[in-house]
Amino acid sequence: MSLSTLSPAACSVVQPLLPVVGARTRVPLATGGEAVYANLDNAASAPALQTVADRVARVLPHYASVHRGAGYLSRTTTALFEQAREQVGAFVRARPDDVVVFTRSTTDALDLLSRAVPAGAEVLVADVEHHANLLPWQRSARTTVVRGGTDAEETTALLEAGLATGRYAVLAVAGASNVTGEVLPLRRLARAAHAAGARIAVDGAQLLPHRRVDVAADEIDWIALSGHKLYAPFGSGALVGRRDWLDAAEPYLAGGGATLDVSHDAVRWAQGPDRHEAGSPNVVGAVALAQACATLSALPAGALEAHETALRDRLVAGLTALDGVAVVRPHPGDAVGVVTFTVPGQEVSKVAAYLSAEHGIGVRDGRFCAHRFANSLGLVEGGLRASTGVGTGTADVDRLLAAVEQFLTSGPELEYGIVDGHWGPLHDLRPAPERFLDSTREPG
Ligand code: PMP
Repeated sequence: MSLSTLSPAACSVVQPLLPVVGARTRVPLATGGEAVYANLDNAASAPALQTVADRVARVLPHYASVHRGAGYLSRTTTALFEQAREQVGAFVRARPDDVVVFTRSTTDALDLLSRAVPAGAEVLVADVEHHANLLPWQRSARTTVVRGGTDAEETTALLEAGLATGRYAVLAVAGASNVTGEVLPLRRLARAAHAAGARIAVDGAQLLPHRRVDVAADEIDWIALSGHKLYAPFGSGALVGRRDWLDAAEPYLAGGGATLDVSHDAVRWAQGPDRHEAGSPNVVGAVALAQACATLSALPAGALEAHETALRDRLVAGLTALDGVAVVRPHPGDAVGVVTFTVPGQEVSKVAAYLSAEHGIGVRDGRFCAHRFANSLGLVEGGLRASTGVGTGTADVDRLLAAVEQFLTSGPELEYGIVDGHWGPLHDLRPAPERFLDSTREPG
């Protein structure tokens, strides 16, 4: 593949947009030697922003018990936690009376919301959803799963038609697909939901790292997010949105912090976020998430989109130009930096193992916790997913393209087979992953 075959947009060279921790971390190669890790698996978990790591380091010496302590640092920690709540709400431009509940992740947030749906409510979901936005609804409420269309426009139209029946209390939808990257028109869907007397719950896991969302202007009722996909891998996520159903629901966890008063025969539960945050909250995770929100918010308008469009275009064009690669539904409309492809005739796990072992490139393979969607796209045996983030530059994309091209033209240098239950090189010079950290220096 030569770059002269790419479109002008795909030819533009882009540098990482923001510094991330570990950008220069070197990994060993199975062939001997090492390479700087090319992280093209941001959609699974993104590296920490440098600002996030700095903030965590700054906060830790001031960390003490939260909510209960009278000590000065306890009060400081409580203030940091509550400020983090405000910052996360501001990041998604929540309405003043919305609630921000800290959770462990998007999965946790959607599970919480699914349990707050009033009895008898019916939920509408498309089969393009990640399991996190499919299985909790199916367990908690009467749920209709419609087959998605052949593109985002068709899926939107199918959801609108479903809503128009007037049966549904909730439309649950992903802002962006973790398989194809396609972005759904949230404002349009919110309006269709509201016109039909339903509410809209958005899985923001893949959208928020790439796009600014305006919950108030887009009329979104709830949005769920994960810190580890937003460059804050410290175990925190959030559910942001309307408080009425959440205040009326059973507390998500029963325990300290969620109560106003506990007597011998009665419990008075708190309302607002406390109701669903029993136990000691993950203050450091919340602060890290809030810092990531602040750093992304401070980017000039359009910078995120321009950065990732250039990378995505280059990925799609470069992969499409390779004879022997099939790009899965290369979305012509708005899409985030998530591109899935296959190398027909080759096991995806073998190709992923080769990219890691011989080139130091990290991608994801499989069905990406979206089995129904993957199956409907013909990915019953799985696909390979390359996903970009603010720490990605053209050089990372080009390394992937060159490595795939080499696989197709000369084949892997090593022999591959199943080793310890996974595809891998039969002779591997790399130290076992569990020993890697101890065998290496601090990255420079
Ligand atoms: N929704 C989407 C679209 C996702 O891509 C993911 C993670 N792959 C999730 C939800 C679940 O996120 P988490 O694992 O952080 O709960």
